[in-house]
Amino acid sequence: MPGEVTRFAPSPTGLLHLGHAYSAFDAADAAAGGRFLLRIEDIDRTRCKPEFAAAIEQDLAWLGLDWERPVRRQSEHLADYQTALSDLDAMGLLYPCVLSRKELAAAFGPDSDDLTVVTDTDRVLDPELYAERLASGQPRALRLRMARAIARTGPLTWTDDRHGVRTARPERHGDVVLARKETPTSYHLSVTVDDALQGITLVTRGMDLFESTDVHRLLQALLGLPTPRYRHHDLLVDGTGTRLAKSHNSPSLRSLRDGGATPEAIRRKLGWAA
Ligand code: GLU
Repeated sequence: MPGEVTRFAPSPTGLLHLGHAYSAFDAADAAAGGRFLLRIEDIDRTRCKPEFAAAIEQDLAWLGLDWERPVRRQSEHLADYQTALSDLDAMGLLYPCVLSRKELAAAFGPDSDDLTVVTDTDRVLDPELYAERLASGQPRALRLRMARAIARTGPLTWTDDRHGVRTARPERHGDVVLARKETPTSYHLSVTVDDALQGITLVTRGMDLFESTDVHRLLQALLGLPTPRYRHHDLLVDGTGTRLAKSHNSPSLRSLRDGGATPEAIRRKLGWAA
């Protein structure tokens, strides 16, 4: 649609690869005639590095993309996420999680298990021990009381340009963490708040985040934020069917460039006319 506001929102935890280029082209293309924004999702202070953030801008410019300035860096906007957390807290929807990873796994199953749904972690320990840990004043993660949140909003839907109208099923995510011990926000919270604050009308991103949208839709309803349209694209895979992701050591755009690839060749390879 004309006049779309879209964004590319990478986390600077490494160099961009072809999968990122695909996502960035998709977002920029969808904004043709509208606005294309870049957002640096750098809330994870241990994994995100300023040099990767700088490399992102250089690589996107090399690809021939242009985006509106200023770039929003999430680490500079923690107060916005704090406001959202305070609103959710005032609704009685947050609670501190005092359990260690080990205790969580013992109570709910290992993290890696897709079927693991963590709920009411404040009812796992005996109340005295729970109170004792809270009183120790250590930083704690904050979880959303999912059942209560859903009871408050009722059924929700969202629309994906490729997948139609979806019924949100945030309960499958359990009591999601909205603020981490080491950083006072989370991916789900900051992405939802930022998409609203930046006036994004169409969220384009990979299918790996398709199910997360159910949580984002719930947060929008709770916080009174608008719901954008979504367009989740398929993930790029290599010749062996393995997903092109940083974790699989796929070649970075930089190494492709250093090996002689041109931005035009990359565009063509990814299916965009040069
Ligand atoms: N920062 C996320 C990532 O790099 C993407 C967030 C989004 O597009 O919603 O995977």
